[in-house]
Amino acid sequence: MGLSKSKYTTFCQCKKKLWLDEYHSELAKEDFASEEILKSGNVVGDLAMSFLGDFVEVTTYNSDGSLNLKEMVLKTKEEINNKTLNICEASFFYNENYCAVDILHNDGDGYSIYEVKSSTKVEPYHLLDASYQYFVLKNNGLKINNVFLVHINPFYVRKDKIDIKKLFKAENITKEVIENLDNVSSNIDIALEVLNNKEEPNVDLGLYCEEPFVCPYQDYCKRNLVSPNVFSLYRMGKKKMYDYYKQGIISYEDIRKSKIKLNKTQERQISFQLDNLDIIVDKKEVKKFLELFRGRLYFLDFETMQEAIPPFVDSKPYSQIPFQYSLHILDENNNLVHKGFLGKEGEDPRRKIAESLCNDIPLDVISIAYNKAFECQRLQELADLFPDLSSHLLNIKDNMLDLLVPFQKGYVYKREMGGSFSIKKVLPAFFNEDKNLDYHSLPGVKNGKEAMQVFVNLPNMNEEDIKKAREGLWEYCKLDTLAMVKLYEKLKELVNEN
Ligand code: SF4
Repeated sequence: MGLSKSKYTTFCQCKKKLWLDEYHSELAKEDFASEEILKSGNVVGDLAMSFLGDFVEVTTYNSDGSLNLKEMVLKTKEEINNKTLNICEASFFYNENYCAVDILHNDGDGYSIYEVKSSTKVEPYHLLDASYQYFVLKNNGLKINNVFLVHINPFYVRKDKIDIKKLFKAENITKEVIENLDNVSSNIDIALEVLNNKEEPNVDLGLYCEEPFVCPYQDYCKRNLVSPNVFSLYRMGKKKMYDYYKQGIISYEDIRKSKIKLNKTQERQISFQLDNLDIIVDKKEVKKFLELFRGRLYFLDFETMQEAIPPFVDSKPYSQIPFQYSLHILDENNNLVHKGFLGKEGEDPRRKIAESLCNDIPLDVISIAYNKAFECQRLQELADLFPDLSSHLLNIKDNMLDLLVPFQKGYVYKREMGGSFSIKKVLPAFFNEDKNLDYHSLPGVKNGKEAMQVFVNLPNMNEEDIKKAREGLWEYCKLDTLAMVKLYEKLKELVNEN
């Protein structure tokens, strides 16, 4: 059993992770988002193939859809013999270890490696991957002149068609790769030992469980820890958490005894747990906050898409593009009406969403978001993009209240919130019995990341799937604003309770 680029970098993060991937991948926590990140990485890789001009791609598949690596290696040799200028997915084996180079560029007197990433800058972990490639190619007898990391240029603004030369930026990382080369050979040896051993390696928890990638085996590796524990503390720095863990400060009792410095939220989290407290309500502050809610109320929530390759004219890589909103309108007599907008698949939704917002939310009314910085930023961007709608959009933004405030400021806290103010934690803390307010009960989309990916994938779906996916998006976003209405009503109820 040999290595690949990804197995090598996995090993560099944690040898147990490499082993678990090989023998017990079913223990990994499924993450819809990481699958989609992988897909978006492939889209970026495909687009970047022409970064240096004409190219030959050697990718070959077996009948079962898997990559035919041996054939790819043979084709690479052929293209090298043909003096092809750019070979994409150029494939090599060194002993049992495989690597495919995103673009192998023929410099005439040797070769340059171009490694494509969908990040917006060179990250330290990119050097591991590039060094492994350099090592394998050198050992195949190739003269490597340079190694380049091709990443997304975050300042690129799309005008009409994508300009590949401007969208991507190549940075020369040859020096850093060569400096990193000493460890590659011994790393490969140890990684192969791990991979070919049937016994799980003994690795304790450490900061590498979080960086450079959050490890999907954390639930498995933390299964024997008491719960809640130091890793449950809200917004505790990652390094600190693992340092405390190493010092044996793990349970909330340990934390209390150790007298380590905690912020107010963390202290409250621990005292609610250990002292068996249920809820605190600062009625005076909540009442003051609720006095801001006047007249008809407009509870608003956006869903956005964020893609490496800007999908529309005047958009940048990874810019947050709103494609949907949900709006619950609550009048003075407690009548509740739902409205919303969901963009059409494949179309730029920004103009229509901006117009729809101006139609649905009159001037000078109170709008409410949960963590309003996000909604305000989107409103500002739409206002910048459409000057004719700007004053109306900015009026909505300027009259927006933030329902997060009473929870974030600690006017209201419930033990089940676990120190978090996220609506996904606050809602079940107050309504855990209500299935209609349970995100897990939604038949389709269950979180914002899924919503984003489902919307982006709509153009690739058939009519029936589009219908189902759009229903899922409606239901999810609708629950976000319904949750706000329910929390607002709950605050009123708490203030009026004796
Ligand atoms: S959770 Fe940590 S120790 Fe466990 S496999 Fe992942 S990185 Fe390794």
